[in-house]
Amino acid sequence: MAKQLDYHTIREIFTRFQDSEPEPKGELDHVNAYTLLVAVALSAQATDKGVNKATAELFKIADTPQKMLDLGEEGLVEHIKTIGLYRNKAKNVMKMAKILVDDYDGEVPCSRAALQALPGVGRKTANVVLNMWWRYPAQAVDTHIFRFGNRSGVCPGKDVVAVERAIEDNIPVDFQLHAHHWMILHGRYTCVARKPKCNACLIRDLCQYEDKTP
Ligand code: SF4
Repeated sequence: MAKQLDYHTIREIFTRFQDSEPEPKGELDHVNAYTLLVAVALSAQATDKGVNKATAELFKIADTPQKMLDLGEEGLVEHIKTIGLYRNKAKNVMKMAKILVDDYDGEVPCSRAALQALPGVGRKTANVVLNMWWRYPAQAVDTHIFRFGNRSGVCPGKDVVAVERAIEDNIPVDFQLHAHHWMILHGRYTCVARKPKCNACLIRDLCQYEDKTP
C-alpha cells in the first residue's frame, strides 16, 4: 500500500483528470433514478457492458417499480439471465419494486439509509445512485478505485471503508463529486489490474507505485 499523498499533489492529480475529462460519466445505461438503481444492483460481479446488453430491452418495458411488478419475476429473469447471480438478483429487484410502490409511491428515496434498507442494495450501490442521480459527493469504492487508490497513494486503505474515508478526508472538496468516476475510469482503462499502462498515464510523475511498468 502506498503512503497517503499530500493535499497539493492530490490537487494536481485531479486537476489533470478534470482537464482531460471535465464531465466524466458512468457507463451504466439508465433512463431515470429507478432504472439506475436496478442497473447498479444488477452490476454486482458483472460488467457494465453485460448489464447494458441485458437492460436495453428490459428498461423499454419496465422503467418504473410498478411496471417491474407487472412484468413479474419470471419475465425479469428472461431479460437478465446472461448476468451472474441472476436468480437472486431477480428476487431482490422484485422485492425492491414492491417496497418502492408500497412505501415510496414508486419513487426512489434519496437517502443512503433508505436506499441501503432496500433488498440487494449495499453501501456501494447506494453511493453510486446518490452520486450519479442526486449528485451527492458520495464515494462508491469498487475494485478499480481500490486498486488505483492503493497503488498511487491518492486514497490508500486496507479495505473499502478505509478507502472511502481516505477519499472523503483527502480529496479536495471541489473534486469530490466527480472523483468517483475519474478514478473508476482511470482504474478501468489505464491503471488496469495485471499490467498498468504507466507509460500512458497522465499522473505517472506523481504516482507512488513502486512497480510502474516501463
Ligand atoms: S503510473 Fe501506473 S500505477 Fe500509477 S496510476 Fe498510473 S497506471 Fe496506475
